[in-house]
Amino acid sequence: MIRRREVSALEVFRAVRDRIEEVERKVNSYITLTLEAAEEAARAADDRLAAGEDPGVAAGIPLAVKDVLCTKGIRTTCGSRILENYVPVYDATVVSRLKRAGMTMMGKANMDEFAMGSSTENSAFGPTRNPWDLGRVPGGSSGGSAAAVAAGEAIWALGSDTGGSIRQPASFCGLVGLKPTYGLVSRYGLVAFASSLDQVGPITRNVRDCALLLALIAGHDPRDSTSLNVEPSDYLAALDGGVRGMRIGVPRELVQEGLTPGVRKAMERSLEIFQELGAEVEETTLPHLDYALSAYYIIAPAEASSNLARYDGVRYGLRVEGKDMLEMYGKTRAKGFGAEVKRRIMLGTYALSAGYYEAYYGQAQKIRTLIVEDFRRAFQRYDVLVSPTSPTPAFALGEKVEDPLAMYLSDVCTIPVNLAGIPAISMPCGLEDGLPVGLQIMGRVLEETTLLRVASALEVAIGFRERPKAGRGVG
Ligand code: GLN
Repeated sequence: MIRRREVSALEVFRAVRDRIEEVERKVNSYITLTLEAAEEAARAADDRLAAGEDPGVAAGIPLAVKDVLCTKGIRTTCGSRILENYVPVYDATVVSRLKRAGMTMMGKANMDEFAMGSSTENSAFGPTRNPWDLGRVPGGSSGGSAAAVAAGEAIWALGSDTGGSIRQPASFCGLVGLKPTYGLVSRYGLVAFASSLDQVGPITRNVRDCALLLALIAGHDPRDSTSLNVEPSDYLAALDGGVRGMRIGVPRELVQEGLTPGVRKAMERSLEIFQELGAEVEETTLPHLDYALSAYYIIAPAEASSNLARYDGVRYGLRVEGKDMLEMYGKTRAKGFGAEVKRRIMLGTYALSAGYYEAYYGQAQKIRTLIVEDFRRAFQRYDVLVSPTSPTPAFALGEKVEDPLAMYLSDVCTIPVNLAGIPAISMPCGLEDGLPVGLQIMGRVLEETTLLRVASALEVAIGFRERPKAGRGVG
């Protein structure tokens, strides 16, 4: 409509800005709002349209950017005190690509500190609340991104996913979230958590938006040494293929105990739909997935302990003086990092220390290889694998903060995907007690097209049109 000039970019901007003014106090989706720059971007898009120029595919579309992505001249906190006043001197590649496409960035979205968490309660800037139920978490770590889209405070959002941080919040907020194949989207300017697992991806209301946003951010970047040198596929063209004749596997290891009855029911209903649409569905086994969570909680903290060594008060962010350099380091890190980040640094440092390296890190890497092998074997037979995205719908604020293991289990179904480097999407597939439930669809390396096709078929068949309601949520 913007491109056809049925509505102006400025009108769209104002509508979303008004919504932010109405609900942001309750939801806390954003750490930093950039409404002035957004208004300017919207005006620029309108001017270009009026002049008959192409303003870009994303022109005038209000976007929320997770605060883990560097934005030139706009502070980038990663949800941490240690970066509270950090202002990057460059844009992440995904951000510069979207700027070129004419986007209107409304602000930097709230998140768990350094993307460590599943509830956005580990943010130094206060928790984000779930727009469907303000007493519940939006998921995490990209909880601000998901809540912003679900509450109408943005049309699209970018998140990052190391173990589930795009898919789980998308699932908790009734949205579509995609974790691309490792290397499809540039990590340049994405503040590193666990570099071998991190990927940037879209959080949107529907599959079509997901395909559009993915197309804008995917593609080779010489500034990221792990970026794949491949031509991205035509994601939009993939949507209408249907699932007839497809083989769909359901890994037994991901549908064990711990699923709530509503999650099980919504998943089973989705499987029936796939069958009605002409796909073959069967249970299968990927035996090493049982060890994925354990391996992840060695590998991810190990990488994090190394990546976070740079926050020492010398170059970036917070600095607390001490009588000598070591004391300055210690005081800076003690004050700047929150409890979960410290826990991860300690776990990772321990797992990498002399004498324990082979017993922990080495073993975890072997398990990772076995998981890669399990997926490779499964994808010889199946086009996609499906599972719930998370074993439960959104949980209550405060429910898991004292119990890290319970929090970690929220990602038990999503973590294997990151270890294997494959793509996966979360799709809304029903409600349990008025809260959204997500279905995870996993695919072969670089087969985002297949995921979008299956997701689109499910979207059409289910017709998920539910929205948060006023009172319990923000209507
Ligand atoms: N919840 C997982 C963790 O805390 C995954 C987070 C993520 O994907 N960034 O590590």
